[in-house]
Amino acid sequence: MKKVLMIISILAFASLLNANNNDSSKDVKKPVEIIINNGASNNGNSNPNPNPVRSGNQTIRNSIGNITINSDYTSEGQNYRQRFIILHYTAIGKEGSLKTLTKEEVSAHYLVSDEKNDPVYYLVDESKRAWHAGASEWKTTKNLNDSSVGIEIVNDGDAHGSFVPYKNFQIKNVAVLVKYLADKYQIPATNILGHEDIAPQRKSDPGPLFPWQELYQKYNIGMWYDNDRKQAYEAQYSSAWNTVTPSVVQTELKKFGYAIDITNGWDKQTQNVIKVFQHHFRPSKYDGKIDLETFAILKALNEKYNNK
Ligand SMILES: [Zn+2]
Repeated sequence: MKKVLMIISILAFASLLNANNNDSSKDVKKPVEIIINNGASNNGNSNPNPNPVRSGNQTIRNSIGNITINSDYTSEGQNYRQRFIILHYTAIGKEGSLKTLTKEEVSAHYLVSDEKNDPVYYLVDESKRAWHAGASEWKTTKNLNDSSVGIEIVNDGDAHGSFVPYKNFQIKNVAVLVKYLADKYQIPATNILGHEDIAPQRKSDPGPLFPWQELYQKYNIGMWYDNDRKQAYEAQYSSAWNTVTPSVVQTELKKFGYAIDITNGWDKQTQNVIKVFQHHFRPSKYDGKIDLETFAILKALNEKYNNK
């Protein structure tokens, strides 16, 4: 088994987890740097010890009475609440994003700024629910606020008619953060998704300019297809395109995880799901219409990630 090296040290402030790095007053909280070096990534599942050693007694005391709580036994049947990571764009600038995410009902655990010297803002404790996903569904899971960590990225989205590119340092910051969370909570690649993936009828973030392919190829984060398998499916279906009916496409999309009704028609709900799938996996063209390349990518992804 690969040796895992974990160093947690208290040092000068680096980048994550603390928003007050420009406060020079004397009473500044000692910043904490967390360095987790677990070597080569293996899909983000490298935390070897999900149930750290617990032991000992503590007392709970209140107006009713007191009880002793003992932690010498640990249940094996447990998992983290944080099972998904959901990425968003804010569709407004930094100041508006901070205001909306802190003063209104909508919230997210983290906000990645579009200003290079900013820290990543940590707005809601990871153990609590943030309200970023709304009505949402992926495979058998609904209402993903309950089971996800939400990351908002300052980016205007398509608020001005066309999508706005992300900045390189934003993507790097997102990569560091997603890897940190995926390692910490053992979140698989298949549960690292965009808001539009889990709410395709009403959302389009993080949109077609979010570089999922780059995150996968550079950092092994999230899902991507193998090109040779895509080409094999293109060859297979180019001569059998008449077999690719709406229900066949809908069934493959549903198998991948999208919420979609099997209607055997190219209806609006199906076009919306195809469009968000194209945003994520075929961003060169996202018209919501199935074509050979889109279908081949979908088949290659299901083969790779849903082959049980
Ligand atoms: Zn969103």
